[in-house]
Amino acid sequence: MSRERARLHGVVQGVGFRPFAYREARRRELAGWVRNRGGAVELEVEGPRPLLDDFFDALSKCPAPAQVERIERAAIAETAERGFSIQHSTAAAPEAALPADLAPCADCERELRDPHDRRFAHPFASCALCGPRFSIVLGLPYDRERTTMAGFALCPECRREYEDPLDRRYHAEPIACPRCGPQLSLLAPSGGDLGLAARALQLAAQALRQGEIVALRGLGGFQLLVDAQSDAAVQRLRERKQREQKPLAVLFPDLASVREHCELSSAEEAVLTSAARPIVLGRRRPTSELATSVAPGLSELGVFLPSTPLLGLLLAELGFPVVCTSGNLSGEPLCVDTAEALERLGAIADVFLVHDRPIARPLDDSVVRVGPFGLESIRRARGYAPLAVARFRARESVLALGAYQKCTVALGFGERLLLSQHLADLDTARGLRLLERTVDDLLGFCRVTPDLVACDLHPDYPSSTLAERLAERFGSRLVRVQHHHAHIAAVLAEHDLDEPVLGLAWDGTGLGDDRTIWGGEALWVSGAEARRLGHLGVFPLLGGDRASREPRRAALGLLWATDRARARAFARERFGEASGALLLQALERGINTPPTSSLGRLFDAVAALLGVRDSCSYEGQAAVELEALAEREPEAPAYELLLSAAPPYVAALEPLTRQICGDLEHGVDRARIAARFQASLVELGVALAGRVETASVVLGGGCFQNRYLRRRLSARLSALGRRVLTANQVPTNDGGIALGQAWVASRTASEPRD
Ligand code: ZN
Ligand code: ZN
Ligand code: FE
Repeated sequence: MSRERARLHGVVQGVGFRPFAYREARRRELAGWVRNRGGAVELEVEGPRPLLDDFFDALSKCPAPAQVERIERAAIAETAERGFSIQHSTAAAPEAALPADLAPCADCERELRDPHDRRFAHPFASCALCGPRFSIVLGLPYDRERTTMAGFALCPECRREYEDPLDRRYHAEPIACPRCGPQLSLLAPSGGDLGLAARALQLAAQALRQGEIVALRGLGGFQLLVDAQSDAAVQRLRERKQREQKPLAVLFPDLASVREHCELSSAEEAVLTSAARPIVLGRRRPTSELATSVAPGLSELGVFLPSTPLLGLLLAELGFPVVCTSGNLSGEPLCVDTAEALERLGAIADVFLVHDRPIARPLDDSVVRVGPFGLESIRRARGYAPLAVARFRARESVLALGAYQKCTVALGFGERLLLSQHLADLDTARGLRLLERTVDDLLGFCRVTPDLVACDLHPDYPSSTLAERLAERFGSRLVRVQHHHAHIAAVLAEHDLDEPVLGLAWDGTGLGDDRTIWGGEALWVSGAEARRLGHLGVFPLLGGDRASREPRRAALGLLWATDRARARAFARERFGEASGALLLQALERGINTPPTSSLGRLFDAVAALLGVRDSCSYEGQAAVELEALAEREPEAPAYELLLSAAPPYVAALEPLTRQICGDLEHGVDRARIAARFQASLVELGVALAGRVETASVVLGGGCFQNRYLRRRLSARLSALGRRVLTANQVPTNDGGIALGQAWVASRTASEPRD
């Protein structure tokens, strides 16, 4: 006989791991106990040596969603203990290994459809393997009393299941049934009651069938639903939400119905049906009869499947797909509480389908693509947060606050580097308040006081001023991280790589070390150090930030930098005589025309030159449409590029612009010009990698949301024998900036201090 004490790390809490260990021990007639400790599972086990090895082998192969990453084993003295038991949690320092919210498992799905089961059609059914987690948890260790379910007293039947180690609801913290769980109700925008429970669900379905807009209080906040087959209904939602053209996601009743509208690879289907249930951007079938206003001008469609019993029941009742979009006003955080939703969404929704389970924190739906080189996260929230995205390797803990758009918070402590859920842009007071609340939430949750606080180099971002205040409050050191350095570092963090790399940070805009606006950068990055080796040619950004909403301004700036005669003609043509003259004057005198090397703005400029669009109704629209246009010419060759032979490697804009304008004048198809432009950027990446021979090349920044750039450049560089790293679990856009900031800041600590 021998006895061992072990600590198991990974996703082991809130996923039925203790009962699993209990059953495996009982099966082998081993003695001992198991308990949660902090974010890990601790156990002692006693029995014949080979059986112990066999037991640990079984534990390491535990069923999903549990996942054992590491087992520490140590032999200890035998005690001749009899039997195996599950012990209660102790509140030692948690490591926050809490799982994300999980879609209903197969067993729960079966019960939901079984009229003889006591949870038949219960919108809040869950078990130890599925259900809400991060959206209900208020603290660690993860026990019912520290969730928003604490106020729901268990009925005798639920209590029996909860306490039986052999029941699949043993210590399933969100356990509930129709008798003791949360309740649904349907409200009018005035707040008046329209129906309860099953009746509420039926009335909501009826409203959707009639083309009305339903605000639904889901897992992590409100969502707005409307019939996706009705153009009139979708248009009405767009008008009321003031969301003119930005694509809307569509929620389907089941996989078969998704397939009718979308061409999906098996990898895409696997992600679509995974427990995280993100929105997957897939190829829309030309035969799809969804309303054209769902995603105007795009070949892609954002599709997803119900992530909760409530959504599953509603969609099953409907039998047709619905548009399902965040319940907020444009650019603001998600509405979470019913009173707040009635006030803010009262003018948008016709009815409100709500429940009385408090929501611990807002969680949007996650958005991903599935590419040939893995997941391409676009928005990371429900189903993924708060899973650790990286290994943390510094002694000092770090809090990082991100940039301005798509704000997230990162926290590095112990062994984990966490990235919060997507929050909001910071141009509203609500967005900033949510950022502040999330900092408190995360620090409280993990019980960390940060040694370092990191933020963007831009002093005027609200996240930067908040970082200053927090650094003062905690007595922490403040570290300002250059935006594009952070983009590259986010990828290094995710892939746990710590060697000097060439980083191509192709992005919208961010403040550079030289106080100009960067965004088409080639950086040499080694830990806390980043050197600018090269960049796109510079052109004036006419009107500063305004240029990103009005691509024709970027185009005029580009022409001004490359061909004055063409610039004058373009100004007259696209802005009219008077406004054109004023803008030319501004350029002449350098008034509000900061120089930029941004690739995002170059995309805008080219889109405007091609007449794709002059102004945008959402961020990045021109670039997205240029990409869609280029899809028609996948084999178009690159334009000739001029890249300087010695550092700094500057890609000249003049020859590129001349060739594009020449093609336009010769009546070359715009799709071909768009494709040739993108092909040129791939060649630029290859040329830069040829000049800087690091083993690994890192691609980071918002422009790598462009599938063509990301996938073609990855393939080309890999073929040349380079290791190519991109953001996968973490968004390549500014949603990943906080992670990169935390990684860079943690590297400043190990350097000698003066
Ligand atoms: Zn379940
Ligand atoms: Zn019950
Ligand atoms: Fe950026």
